Amino acid sequence: MDTERIVIKDVQNPKDSELIKAAQILREGGLVAFPTETVYGLGGNALDEQAAKKIYRAKGRPSDNPLIAHISCMEELEPLVREIPKAGRILAERYWPGPLTMIFPKSSLVPYGTTGGLDTVAVRMPKDRVANRLIRLAGVPVAAPSANTSGRPSPTTADHVWQDLEGKIEMVVDGGPVGIGLESTIVDVSSPVPVILRPGAITQEMLGQVLGQISLDPAISGPGQEGLRPRAPGMKYKHYAPRAEMTLVEVKEETMEQLYRPGSFLHGQVSRMMTESGRNWKMKIEIFYMAWKVNEAAAQMEKTGARVGVICTEETMDEYTAGIKRSIGRRDSEVSVAHNLYGVLREFDDLGVDFIYAESFSETHLGNAIMNRLNKAAGYRILWV
Ligand code: AMP
Ligand code: MG
Repeated sequence: MDTERIVIKDVQNPKDSELIKAAQILREGGLVAFPTETVYGLGGNALDEQAAKKIYRAKGRPSDNPLIAHISCMEELEPLVREIPKAGRILAERYWPGPLTMIFPKSSLVPYGTTGGLDTVAVRMPKDRVANRLIRLAGVPVAAPSANTSGRPSPTTADHVWQDLEGKIEMVVDGGPVGIGLESTIVDVSSPVPVILRPGAITQEMLGQVLGQISLDPAISGPGQEGLRPRAPGMKYKHYAPRAEMTLVEVKEETMEQLYRPGSFLHGQVSRMMTESGRNWKMKIEIFYMAWKVNEAAAQMEKTGARVGVICTEETMDEYTAGIKRSIGRRDSEVSVAHNLYGVLREFDDLGVDFIYAESFSETHLGNAIMNRLNKAAGYRILWV
């Protein structure tokens, strides 16, 4: 199949004439990849079981992994759901349109082919102007998982989509790089206390402020354990993965305590950083030590002839002396780290590295989503130093 690519001139004000053909393809059961504020989505008519099948085939995705139905306004929600629980109304009011997906009991209109056989349906209303207008013009809810081959890092540019899906879908709508760069937060609002099934840019802290009570699906924080099935079926797959074997590097609490002790082997550095870095000295020491350990491990790997990638940050870049280093953003801006995460993983794929070492980040706020994706990319492989 020839895949057409349409470039949107002004993504803040897309013209209907630019989107009309894409909308028609969706309505007629074809597939169109398009930008959203989270990552690029691979869209098909959510009410058409055949379209859902095509999505699974194009992505190479297991068909028990349900799709998110995307809508453009509140009126489009009602036909898809059996009820809208109170928490769902509150969150829709506060965070829609935006990077938040909610799980509702599904109506009979939504085929099981879209929900992976579940009696619930995941719905999101994207804010991105191109996405929102395209859905409106299509006139049908649009099922849109990330527009990547299953198992590869999610696409944050139209070129990423092209790499994975050219020749497999009817059209790619190119709206430039996306804003956030991580998939939406998923919240199940159908249970008495709403549960976060996947962390994202709408953080646990933000949800807690609006709802009071919110819990986290325990399956989010670790590798699949027996008896602990993620409530978002997709979270069980080794998702978001680069081709290389990736390891996250974390500094142990006790290491830090040792480092602060007078007379420790890094004590000279500690004293220097305490005077130079003021309040941030603890973080500086931690990062300095992490880089030192990564250099050791990377140099060792390189000796065996392996190609090694290092995921670092603007602040730490200069500390690395081994491996191919790429900055993922600024430590003082989680937004920048989220934005670059998948692009850096793909770049290392293109460079053909065998191993990747990645710095770790704090797990609060957006850091929770960042660490969730890094952990999944690393298959929860952690080097504790
Ligand atoms: P993606 O669209 O690729 O970002 O993935 C969609 C995510 O939403 C997957 O992790 C799915 O398992 C999850 N999801 C979709 N529908 C449901 C549902 N009805 N209940 C729970 N999780 C869902
Ligand atoms: Mg995905």
